[in-house]
Amino acid sequence: MNDELWSEWTKLPIDSDELKKYQASKLKQLLIRCYEDSPYYKEKFDKANVNPYEFDDVTQLSQYPTFDKYEERESQAQSKEHLGHPLGMHITCDEKKVNRMSASSGTTGTPSFQGHSYTDRQIIFKHMARLADIAGIQPGDKVLMAGVMSMWVAGIPTVDALLDFGANVIPIGGLVGTAKVAEMIELTHPDVIICTPSFARILIKKCKNELNIDLPSMGIKKVFVYGEPGGSEAQIIKEIEEGFGGATLFDMAGGTGALNPIFTSCTEHDGLHFIAQDSTFIELYDRETNTVLPWQDGATGEFVYTALEREVGPLIRFKDGDLIQINTKPCKCGFPGIRIKILGRVDDMLLVKGVNVFPSAIRDLIMRFADQVTGNIKVMKTSESPVVAPPLHIKVECKGSLSLASKQQLDEKICEEIKRVLRFQAKLELFDEGELVMEYGPTGKVKLIENINN
Ligand SMILES: [Zn+2]
Repeated sequence: MNDELWSEWTKLPIDSDELKKYQASKLKQLLIRCYEDSPYYKEKFDKANVNPYEFDDVTQLSQYPTFDKYEERESQAQSKEHLGHPLGMHITCDEKKVNRMSASSGTTGTPSFQGHSYTDRQIIFKHMARLADIAGIQPGDKVLMAGVMSMWVAGIPTVDALLDFGANVIPIGGLVGTAKVAEMIELTHPDVIICTPSFARILIKKCKNELNIDLPSMGIKKVFVYGEPGGSEAQIIKEIEEGFGGATLFDMAGGTGALNPIFTSCTEHDGLHFIAQDSTFIELYDRETNTVLPWQDGATGEFVYTALEREVGPLIRFKDGDLIQINTKPCKCGFPGIRIKILGRVDDMLLVKGVNVFPSAIRDLIMRFADQVTGNIKVMKTSESPVVAPPLHIKVECKGSLSLASKQQLDEKICEEIKRVLRFQAKLELFDEGELVMEYGPTGKVKLIENINN
C-alpha cells in the first residue's frame, strides 16, 4: 500500500468517534455552503426545519431531507428552463467553475447530468489512484479503456483519472465494438482492460469463435469491470479471469452523489471495499422504516450518499437505489473497513443484452402512447435472474377495445420505440381494458414483473 494515497480517516472503523467528528465538520461546511449558495437548498432545508449552523453531530444528518433521481431530474429540467444549463437548481457554484459535464444514460432516455469542477476532478483522481493501489497498477502500465466513453459519467472521468495517475491509457471506448477492441489488444498488449462484465464476456467469445485471436496469450493481467452486476458473481469472475488467460478481475463501483469510483473488490473476490471514508459520507437506509441503520455485519439496506467536498451540484443524502449488504468481517487481503455486496437495484432491474432496463422505465415509455394504453403492463420473466434474453415478453393493456388493425399498429409503434430508446426487442401481448389482472405487493406497490417459471 502506498501510504501517501490513504489518509488516516480511511483507516478508522466506520463507526469510530474520531471519524464521525471529522465527517461532522466536513458536513457542516457543506451544508452551510448549500444553504448560503443555493436558493434551492435554502428552501428545501427551511421546509424541513433544519439549520446547518446548528449542525455538530453526524446523527443530525438523518433530519435532513433525502434526494433521489426523480428530484434530480426535476431540478435539472427546471435549471434548463431558468438557468440555461442542465446541472440542476441545486448547483452551488458559479457555472464558470464547471470543468466538465458528463451524463448518465438514464433508462427513460432523459439523461441526468453531473458537473465536475477542477477540485472535484482531483477527488476522483485520488479515488482512482487508491483503486490502482489495491489492484497493484503502476504508473506506466498500459490500461485499455473499453467502457463506453462519450459523455458517459464513468467514461471520460475514468480516463481523466488514469491519465493523472500516470498510466499509459489506450482510450478506445466500447462503442467501436468487440472486434475493434480485440484488434487493439493484439496491437498494444495492454496490462489492464476496463469494461463492463458483459463486454468482457462477449469479447472472450468473439476472440475464440470468430476472430482467431488468442486472448489468453495477450498478457492482460487485470480486468476492471463496472456498470452492471457480474463482477462479484463467482461464475462470471471465473469465466472472465480464465478468458483473459489468468488475469485478476476487480469489480469497481460508485454511488450517485459521490465522486466515483469509491468501491472496489480485491484479489479475494469477497465483497467491495469502501475506499473513500474521508470524502464520502454513507448511511445505510431502511426504506420500510425510513430510518438509518447501524453498521452491523449482514445488515441490508439502501445507501444514501453525501460527497463531503463536492463543488458542482452537491447532492445531499442521495438515495441511489441499490440494495446493499454490509460485511464488517476483516478481509483476508488486510485492507481495513467495511465491505459491501450489491444485492440489486431497488427497482427490480432487468438486464437485456447487457443493457440495464427497469420495468418502471418500460412502463414510462409505453405510457408515451397513453391515448391508447392504460399503463397496466407486465414484464414476463422465466427465471429469477435479472438477465433476460430478447425479445422481452411484455403484456400491455389497451384502453377500451381496439380493433385488430389498431392493435397491430400500436404493437409496431411501441416495439419500435422500445428498440429506439431502450435498445432491446420486445414481443408484446395486447389486452383489452380490464383483461390484464395486476398484482400488488404488501405496501400497495404494483408488481410489474411476473415470473412464469413456477
Ligand atoms: Zn480485500
